[in-house]
Amino acid sequence: APLPGARLEVSGLMKRFGGLQALGGVSLTAEPGQITALIGPNGSGKTTLLNMVCGYYRTDAGTIRIGASDITGAKTYRVARAGVSRTFQTPLFPEDISVREAVAAGMYMPRYVGMLSSILRLPNYRRTARADRAETTTVLRLVGVDHLADVEAASLPAGTRRLVEVARALASRPKVLLLDEVASGLDEDEIERLADLIRAIRDAGTTVVLVEHNFKLVLELADVIRVLAQGELIASGTPAEIENHPRVLAEYLGV
Ligand code: ADP
Repeated sequence: APLPGARLEVSGLMKRFGGLQALGGVSLTAEPGQITALIGPNGSGKTTLLNMVCGYYRTDAGTIRIGASDITGAKTYRVARAGVSRTFQTPLFPEDISVREAVAAGMYMPRYVGMLSSILRLPNYRRTARADRAETTTVLRLVGVDHLADVEAASLPAGTRRLVEVARALASRPKVLLLDEVASGLDEDEIERLADLIRAIRDAGTTVVLVEHNFKLVLELADVIRVLAQGELIASGTPAEIENHPRVLAEYLGV
């Protein structure tokens, strides 16, 4: 089961790419036990914000906190150790890696240091490996891909690969789970199952951040919606508030 979450707090976050201001000082929070959707038109800075939280991009200004830890400028492995896990829009799995192996790999990333010490104490490591196998199985079941455990992950259709990607991200027992367009390429049934799963993760106390184009799914899932446009936060509120927000209707939905 996922661990209880930690608050994500981004404050005054700025990012430039050459002459282009991708984020112009964004401040926002995502709370444990809530699904916070991040929406906005293409190019509004959603992915940049995720990349900065994960430590892929350096911040030009601003701070990023996970609970009590300041992770501003932290390297990706430190961010992972602070409990942040994300999915990628286009998950790539190495060839010859089974679904089980892909998901198990997600478990080791934040535990890298712990892993080394485990390797040095072999009996302990064996016990850990058995526990890890059981936990991988649990995550595979939770996401509904356990029947594919031995299939090569890279050979799966895009929609299924995305589910494996969610399982991989979940395997590290994140406090903050960042989901980047996880619903695209899934059919109606898969989206419903994914929605149930995301709710269950939320209900376990995890902080869930959902970057998602499917506005219907966002309205259905989100506790809080935050809207970006041109690198600025233009609105925050409940689905009911956002659905009727004049600026959101104008800028985001184009009506
Ligand atoms: P969104 O995810 O909301 O579609 P992005 O965060 O991908 O928006 O992009 C925000 C802006 O920053 C866009 O104008 C995009 O072209 C630019 N951008 C994003 N990443 C880079 C990069 N690595 N180099 C240059 N420009 C980038």
